[in-house]
Amino acid sequence: MPQIKVYTTDFCPYCDVAKRILENKEIEYEEINIHGNPEMRDHIEELTGRRDVPQIFIDDQHIGDDDNLAELARSGELDKLLEKEEGNTLGHNNNTIEERNVIIIGGGTAGYAAGVYTSRAMLEPLLLVGDTLGGQLSLTLDLENYPGYFGDQAGEFVNGLKEQAENFGTETRFEYVTEVDFNNHPFSVKTYDNQYVAKSIVICTGASPRTLDIPGEKEYGGRGVSYCATCDGFFFQDQRLIVVGGGDAALEEGIFLTKYASEVIIVHRRDQLRASQIMQERAFKNDKIKFIWDTVVDEIQGEEQKVTAALLRNIKTNDTEIFPIDGVFIFVGHIPNTELFKGVINLNDQGYIIVDEKQQTSIEGIFAAGDVHDHVFRQAITAAGTGAAAGIMAEKFVAELENRAYPG
Ligand code: NDP
Repeated sequence: MPQIKVYTTDFCPYCDVAKRILENKEIEYEEINIHGNPEMRDHIEELTGRRDVPQIFIDDQHIGDDDNLAELARSGELDKLLEKEEGNTLGHNNNTIEERNVIIIGGGTAGYAAGVYTSRAMLEPLLLVGDTLGGQLSLTLDLENYPGYFGDQAGEFVNGLKEQAENFGTETRFEYVTEVDFNNHPFSVKTYDNQYVAKSIVICTGASPRTLDIPGEKEYGGRGVSYCATCDGFFFQDQRLIVVGGGDAALEEGIFLTKYASEVIIVHRRDQLRASQIMQERAFKNDKIKFIWDTVVDEIQGEEQKVTAALLRNIKTNDTEIFPIDGVFIFVGHIPNTELFKGVINLNDQGYIIVDEKQQTSIEGIFAAGDVHDHVFRQAITAAGTGAAAGIMAEKFVAELENRAYPG
């Protein structure tokens, strides 16, 4: 059997994604944590040309990161590489259709809040997570503004969400939804592996980091361009970095990067930050952080597969400058994960799901909660609130179908 090695760092949600893909397929692997080990870090960079984790090898063959691994798993190529019998691959190979009361799509704060409420209603909900447990919280380290939660670890909080919902009877499965049919009732949901029908659905698919879509961004992805400071910061010891964005994420991640970088330059397209006052104060106080205002990055440039510069443009004067830099971290907001639902339920111009005051979408019995519909607050606590509301309404919808609805 070929040997699998997964190179990781201490806090890396994408590393967890890669490990989960292997574990779901019952594939054994060796994890090599390179955090705090500069020789190993440099060795990986030399071998792969990459400055991000996870990096996965099958014997001596470099597979790539978690996205590459997921693609191999979905296409069935992973089984071939591992000389395993094919199975668990693209194509809904399980023909039985499982019936459920409620299916929750998405395993972030909103999804698990809906899970708590629907499982306490004895509906035994199925929660389909895809790969990334915890949604947006899985991409951050600290959580200090969730009322009543005095810990400060987002990872610990996410584990608590899952455990609490599961204690009441929520079932978590790490399966990607590939297709939905909401035109007929019960509603149908397909994943790569299974087919389900459910009386009610709660959509909590959240949002994903937005990209800049500029020349060089894709080309140097993982070679100096990153969307995860906690995963990849370690590769930039004593180096100069640009952080793009002016929101809480840009400042929080920028501050985190000062643990490693010699200097962090925050490039923002306006002269005022969007971030909260407390984050602004922390950033302004940090000696390693500088700001460049009214400026956008038009191109990321590199040599020998490494970022070397960013082309900056002042949007007021139109002056441009080639700014030498070792890495570019991008935190410019999010786009809702609604690809699956286009043409199925009503979305607004930016692609967010439209819900009414009861979290119901344009189809009766289909509810949505969290960042997939909320483009205003986007907080863990508001996701929990709307998730709870959606769970309550799903419970009520199922009860009405079964003529056991409570009044109101
Ligand atoms: P935000 O939408 O709040 O901020 C995105 C930033 O990126 C804005 O400053 C925006 O500029 C800028 N931007 C957007 N598009 C571009 C572009 N194409 N080029 C250059 N700049 C661009 O997203 P965040 O991810 O920062 O935060 C999302 C939510 O999560 C917020 O509600 C935030 O409060 C919350 N959060 C809270 C944290 C905490 O409390 N510790 C940590 C992280 C996030 P402009 O301002 O001009 O629109």
